[in-house]
Amino acid sequence: MRRISSRLFIVTFILSLPFWAGAVTPEKPEFRKLADDVYAYIGKLNDANAIVVVTSQGVVVIDTGNNQPETRNILKNIQAVTKQPVRYVIITQNHGDHFGGTPLFSPPATVIMHERVAKDWKSWKPHLIKSWRKRFSEREDALKDFHPMDTVVTFNDHMTLSLGGKVFELIYVNDKYNPGDIGVWLPQSGVLHAGFVGYKERHPDIRPDYSHGTTWGMLKQLEAFIPLQPKFVVPGHGPISDTKDLQAMIDYLTIARQRVRGMMDKGMALDEIRKQFHMNEYKDWDRTQHLPITAAAIYRELRGEGPEITPSVEKTVKGTIAKIQEEGRYLGVTSDTGQSLALRISNATDIEGIADRSHFKPGMKFTALYEEQKQWNEVLEMKIMP
Ligand SMILES: [Zn+2]
Repeated sequence: MRRISSRLFIVTFILSLPFWAGAVTPEKPEFRKLADDVYAYIGKLNDANAIVVVTSQGVVVIDTGNNQPETRNILKNIQAVTKQPVRYVIITQNHGDHFGGTPLFSPPATVIMHERVAKDWKSWKPHLIKSWRKRFSEREDALKDFHPMDTVVTFNDHMTLSLGGKVFELIYVNDKYNPGDIGVWLPQSGVLHAGFVGYKERHPDIRPDYSHGTTWGMLKQLEAFIPLQPKFVVPGHGPISDTKDLQAMIDYLTIARQRVRGMMDKGMALDEIRKQFHMNEYKDWDRTQHLPITAAAIYRELRGEGPEITPSVEKTVKGTIAKIQEEGRYLGVTSDTGQSLALRISNATDIEGIADRSHFKPGMKFTALYEEQKQWNEVLEMKIMP
């Protein structure tokens, strides 16, 4: 009897595992101590991660959390372990889920980023500056007349920051298509923020527009990070990894490139390559939906082509919110003319009428200015009607 029930238990347990069984972080964020004065903020359900380092002369924050509530949560966790102010924010990649929380800390904190990221920030359109200033209502006064570049310091290939006895090595591995992604190495504690290339058991979403760089650029970064032999690798998203996960990503990218090359050598067309491309050696890795896009990106790379540039057209829509996904990142809406439309709300979208995208409710009426792109309808400005 006992044997039967324990077997039943095992069967039930296996059935209750999620079918993808990939590497996904828990439903609640975690603030985990990795070494003395070094903490990892591990985003919930693979939201962006961050690192917090406490020194005797202030706090250094590496990346800033997926959404406003996450950034506030990072600050709350900092305040629970120290009275020191945040002195520096380091940005590892030019994507809103990594830098979007910066205005909670800066000014007065100094923001450090690669020159290529700064070049992009300097070209921001007015709606981005506007949404930056009002992203955190508690910061409205501090951010009045503020431009995001006002507190920025940049570097080109390497920078060492020393603060209160703690050392930070900022590493940029040069590549034509690296968008300014960097690694941050803490030699005293053996902790590395490896950004985009540090994923554990997750298919990386290398895209044909090279907004995450190329597989070639990733391989160069991994070759630079592995000799550091980090004890802990904090990736841009997902569970904490280590040196052997960096090695596993090298193997993964090598196989992926060989596979696409093999299909190209057979004369297969891109559409067919997208369909046939697989990474069956990595069946339990998270995000298999990235695979066709990865195949298309590698195809471009191997042909020696530059990033895919998709023309975008600005349009306006007036309508009602029908469906909300991923805490407001995606909306299904019905326009006043009866058309169904999918909108993507980034944390750079200038939203009026509610505090942030997590406050959307079905039935809300709105007007929006959006960019119609190949993959998304990216919303620039949105006004919720009272
Ligand atoms: Zn990200």
